Amino acid sequence: MIIILQRNGEEQVNEIVRYVHSLGLEVDISQGTENVVLGIRGDTRSLREEQFVSLPGVQRVNRISSKYKLVSRQFRPQHTVKIKDYLVGDVPHLSDSKPFIIAGPCAIEDEKQALQTFEEIAAYTDAFRGFLYKPRTSPYEFQGLRETGISILQEIRRRYSIPIVQEVLDSRHLDVLNEVTDIYQVGTRNMYNYELLKEVAGTGKPVILKRGWTATLEEWLLAAEYIAKEGNMNIILCERGIRTLSSGEYGRNTPDLNVIPAVREKSCLPIIFDPSHSTGRAELVVPTSLAALSMGAHGLEIDVMPRNYDRRMLQVDGQQAITAQELGEIVKRAGNVWGNG
Ligand code: PEP
Ligand code: MN
Repeated sequence: MIIILQRNGEEQVNEIVRYVHSLGLEVDISQGTENVVLGIRGDTRSLREEQFVSLPGVQRVNRISSKYKLVSRQFRPQHTVKIKDYLVGDVPHLSDSKPFIIAGPCAIEDEKQALQTFEEIAAYTDAFRGFLYKPRTSPYEFQGLRETGISILQEIRRRYSIPIVQEVLDSRHLDVLNEVTDIYQVGTRNMYNYELLKEVAGTGKPVILKRGWTATLEEWLLAAEYIAKEGNMNIILCERGIRTLSSGEYGRNTPDLNVIPAVREKSCLPIIFDPSHSTGRAELVVPTSLAALSMGAHGLEIDVMPRNYDRRMLQVDGQQAITAQELGEIVKRAGNVWGNG
């Protein structure tokens, strides 16, 4: 159940919170520009709307019909993620007036590849990606530099004040990653790993939650609810393509662009799009990025490789990596399609 009050009624809010606590229920408070929204958690079946509608300052009382609550649009009318508070540099909020761009190599493969990529894209990106731990389908393929790559990310930190995204596969890696990570990512394979979601949420850092490749929208938002329930609302959803009958035939996955407006309607969380893992093909990255932005995506997460590299030199996902020049093209053209953030 949510209770919407007029702003500037602090005492009224406190009174309702005390009352709800006395019933053994929890309250989450969301401060909007015009309203304060109280989300009541717990078994609310015995509550009646009439208990609250007549209280001073209360404008409306609604029951939330979805299973997810904290991440629902009803609870929080604005899309905002306070990435800024956690990061080294000065980066925009995800509701600011431009798309949030995350770019970099799929995996950090060696120092030369990483440093060259980051140098070439630094002007275009709000956050760097490039992972040390890689979840590979085959156990015989390169699994990432793991701990041995930390020094490369430390060097990146010294050179740039651009936040770093790292994927976490296992909570035992959090200690190692913490020092070089501003934003965690939980990938498609781990969207259903609820214990991991809780551990990552507990770091207090922003979390990019990729959609499981067979996940329904409701399953995805419920996975996000696990993070929110730990008290961490800094969640960024990322659509990365789903498995359909055409996946693998003319693209790695199928970008489900329809999900972008659906997320915006149902959830208060920002939604970004990963054109690289969605399509698996470099030549589809620019057009699908622009399509996703025009569907309302708040940002993009893109694989990039160094200029003058032969994509076959890369051990991970070379076929889907674009160059910094193409990334620049996306950033330039994004302004024309991104109007409804
Ligand atoms: C990635 O971003 O490198 C990645 C592995 O993504 P996904 O989990 O979407 O496959
Ligand atoms: Mn990849």
